Amino acid sequence: MTVTEPAPNPAPVPPLAARTRSIGGSPVRDILAVTARPEVVNFAGGLPAPELFDTDGIAHAYRAVLAEAPAQALQYSTTEGEPALRTALAARTTARGLTTDPDDILVTTGSQQALSLLATALLEPGDTVLVENPCYLAALQAFGFAGARILPVPSDADGVDPEALEELVAREHPKLLYTVPTFQNPTGRTMPAARRAAVAAVAARHGLWIIEDDPYGELRFEGERLPWIASYPGAEDRAVLLGSFSKVMAPGMRLGWLRAPAELRRACVIAKQAADLHTPTVNQLAAARYLADNDLDAHIARVAAAYRDRRDAMLAALPATLPQGSTWNHPEGGMFLWARLPDAYDTTALLPRVVEHNVAYVPGAPFYAGDPDRSTLRLCFVTPTPDEITEGLGRLAEGLGI
Ligand code: PMP
Repeated sequence: MTVTEPAPNPAPVPPLAARTRSIGGSPVRDILAVTARPEVVNFAGGLPAPELFDTDGIAHAYRAVLAEAPAQALQYSTTEGEPALRTALAARTTARGLTTDPDDILVTTGSQQALSLLATALLEPGDTVLVENPCYLAALQAFGFAGARILPVPSDADGVDPEALEELVAREHPKLLYTVPTFQNPTGRTMPAARRAAVAAVAARHGLWIIEDDPYGELRFEGERLPWIASYPGAEDRAVLLGSFSKVMAPGMRLGWLRAPAELRRACVIAKQAADLHTPTVNQLAAARYLADNDLDAHIARVAAAYRDRRDAMLAALPATLPQGSTWNHPEGGMFLWARLPDAYDTTALLPRVVEHNVAYVPGAPFYAGDPDRSTLRLCFVTPTPDEITEGLGRLAEGLGI
C-alpha cells in the first residue's frame, strides 16, 4: 500500500484533550437555546435589553471611523489595544478613583477573554483558585480549562467572608482569588467597603493574586459607588481589575479590558498573541469614537433607570410568585436577583416543567464550585419589560404549582 492510498479501515482519530470532557458546556447556554422561542419570558440569560442599546450613536461611531480612518480601522493592530481606547479607559478608571495609565491597560475581546488570558498566565495544572460561592459560571470554566483546583470561599449576603478567606489562604496556598464584588453574577450581591479592604489585606499578608471582575458596577440604581478592591492598600501590585462594555454599551462589540501590574500584563499580552493577535480594530476605534462624541455616563444612567423599574417590577411580583418560605435579595444594581425556595424544591428538576409555561430561569446549582444549594435560582430582571416581568412571574408561579 502506498501513502496516498485511502485506508480500507481508517484508524480512529486520537482522542480530544481530557479537559474537554471534564469541563462541561455552560448549562446557561443550553437553556438559552430553549428560551430563544419568542413566546418565552426569559429570566435566564444575562442579556442586556436590546431596545436600550444606543444603536444610532454606535452606528454613527462605526460610520465615522470607517469613513475617516478606513486604512487603520480595517488593518491589524497592536495586541495591547488601540491607544485612543486605552487612553479613554485609563481616564475613566482614574476618574473613578483608581489612578491608571493607558499602558496599565490591555484591551481584551470581552472580559471573558481576560479570564482565559489570566488563567494561561498565572495557573499551572493543580494550582488552587479560590472563588466566591456561588460563582460566575464561565470563570469556573476558564479556571477549569487551566487545570486549576477550584475551592469555594464561604460567602454570605455580603460576598466572601474575609476570615474564612484568610483561613483557606493559609491552609491551601491558593494562587488567586476570583471575585465579582459589585452586583455579582449570579447573586446580584455587593461586597461592602470594609470587606474589600479586608480582602486586599489578606492578599497582601499571604501573597495572593486578586482578580476583580467588574462588568456590572456602573449599573447602580441606588446607594453609593464603592471603591474597587484594587484601590485598597496592599492590592496595588496584586489586584487585576477587569472591565467590559458589554453591559453598558453592547455585548456584540466584544470589548473588555484588564488593568494589571506590568509583569502579569506582559504575560497576558503574550497569551493574547496566541489567542487572537488583537481585539478587532474597528470595534476598538468605534468605541473610542463613541466615547469622544457621546456621554456614555448619561446613556448608562438611562439604562440603569430602566433596569431599576424592571427590578422593582420583579420585587413587587415575587411575593405572589415563589412558594411560602422562599427568600430573595434586593440588588442595588446590575442585572440579577438570587432567590432560594424552601428545601423541598430542586430548581434544576423543576425547570423543564416551568419552561412548558413559557418562562425560564437559571437553576442555582451549576454556579457552585462545591456542594450546590439545589433550592436556589438566578433571575435576570433586565431583558423583559416590566409588563413582561409581571406576566412571566405569573407563569413561573403556575409552573411552580403556586
Ligand atoms: N464576568 C462576569 C461576572 C460576567 O457576568 C460576564 C458576562 N456574563 C463576563 C465576565 C463576560 O463578559 P464579556 O466577555 O461580555 O465582557
